[in-house]
Amino acid sequence: DDNWLSLPNPYDVPVEICAGPDVPLETAAVDELLTVLETAGTLRALTTAGAGTAPRIERVVCTPDFHKGAGIPIGTVIQTAGALLPQAVGNDINCGMRVEATALTVDRVRPHLDALERRLRHLFFEGGRRIGLTAGQRAGLLRYGLPGLLGDGVPDSPGGAWAQVRPDDTTGLDGRLHATGFPVASAAGFEDWISSGGGVSYDSIIGSVGGGNHFAELQYVSAVHDGAAAHAWGLAPGRVVLMVHSGSLSLGHQAGAIGRDAARAAWPRGVPMPRNGILPLLDPARYLTAFANAANFAIGNRFFLAMMLRAGLADVAGEVGARLIYDAPHNLLRPAADGTVLHRKGATPAGGPTGDPDRLWGEPVIVPGSMGAPSYLLRGLGEPRALGSAAHGAGRRVPRGAAARGSDADLDAFLRDFRVVTPLDHRDPAVLARRDIIDAWRRDLKQEAPWAYKDVAPVVDSLRGAGVASPVVELRPLLTVKG
Ligand code: 5GP
Ligand code: MN
Ligand code: MN
Repeated sequence: DDNWLSLPNPYDVPVEICAGPDVPLETAAVDELLTVLETAGTLRALTTAGAGTAPRIERVVCTPDFHKGAGIPIGTVIQTAGALLPQAVGNDINCGMRVEATALTVDRVRPHLDALERRLRHLFFEGGRRIGLTAGQRAGLLRYGLPGLLGDGVPDSPGGAWAQVRPDDTTGLDGRLHATGFPVASAAGFEDWISSGGGVSYDSIIGSVGGGNHFAELQYVSAVHDGAAAHAWGLAPGRVVLMVHSGSLSLGHQAGAIGRDAARAAWPRGVPMPRNGILPLLDPARYLTAFANAANFAIGNRFFLAMMLRAGLADVAGEVGARLIYDAPHNLLRPAADGTVLHRKGATPAGGPTGDPDRLWGEPVIVPGSMGAPSYLLRGLGEPRALGSAAHGAGRRVPRGAAARGSDADLDAFLRDFRVVTPLDHRDPAVLARRDIIDAWRRDLKQEAPWAYKDVAPVVDSLRGAGVASPVVELRPLLTVKG
């Protein structure tokens, strides 16, 4: 019908793509998805090889920002039974978006944007972040998420940067993963990160944005579409909002490698390795532990990035009054009690309203546009046809890695006009002397120009039209940190 397409395939897997009439459907992504479906055949071969249960792909749903990835399209939700597919959550485990409402208005903040830009450059790129963690806090974060990190109080904060931390910051996803069907993670395999430095040490990883499409952005409410839900979430016209997009950095890649190694080691003799490179895991216990560690780390990373935005705002505008709206994961898997596993790769949960006071209006769905463009907050409607999932962005129009367009001067003008803070602003002569690094940053940033992304409006229209999520507010950027 108008907002759904189904994709016939040789494996008889039910596949539905949520896409309204104005969403361009990418043939390369459809071709890639058909290759992914070969895994249905792999699972049949594994059953024949004596896997016991009958592992299978139950259902696949694609979101309106569906586009080609590196093996599995972004915007793909795969429900399996009896098997887990580590590749189907992507490399950046628990990449996600964190959104906080502040008590500040755009009129209060706008006069201070120059000072704020300088302050954030210092915090993000000139060694200002200094997040001191003990080994106990690191292990606590990996095993128990934010409650594990903050259990003994707020981490060491030399410059008072974390004075903005409030007790309710651990809400949303519960601030941890193990509460939701995962084993309490042992943190085996991450000893290097946990013990780095010994005692309290300033972390060189946590609090990094992570390059490419990741960002930490200050926005304001530019239009309200659902006054009641907006009010419940602490939003009103002109209200300043923080949005953070980041993941598990190197720890996610480490956990992914653990999953791939486990799948290879357990591969039954006589079954050929799958052509599409997707190796199912039939006994995922060890991988789930590493996965939960990386996912908890990502929640902590977004938490600190938001703290850095808060700290910058507090320096120029006083009391920020920030309150978490939601921390939404878009590269995540969830084992369910019935033995099925839901894999989301570049798709965000969009559960419907419940009696829970935080969920009266449905699960917050965060749909960023692109650098310089508007973003949206929607409320999830729990649509079963969509496997309770929604788009997590506008989606790329031009694949990453395609030749970057535009001159350096155009890029610099764009970054200035839209107040994008990047490592290119570095003042350190030693860094500036490294042409190779600067050129790599430029290439990376050119891949993120707005023309590389689709328009976000048709994506939002598709979600509304399909009954997946309903728009609450539109947000416009004030300042974006990339890098
Ligand atoms: P991902 O990389 O997780 O697949 O996509 C995240 C989404 O974020 C992209 O599809 C794009 O719509 C959006 N995005 C990328 N860069 C920016 C940015 O700098 N600011 C905002 N607001 N959105 C962005
Ligand atoms: Mn992401
Ligand atoms: Mn990511």
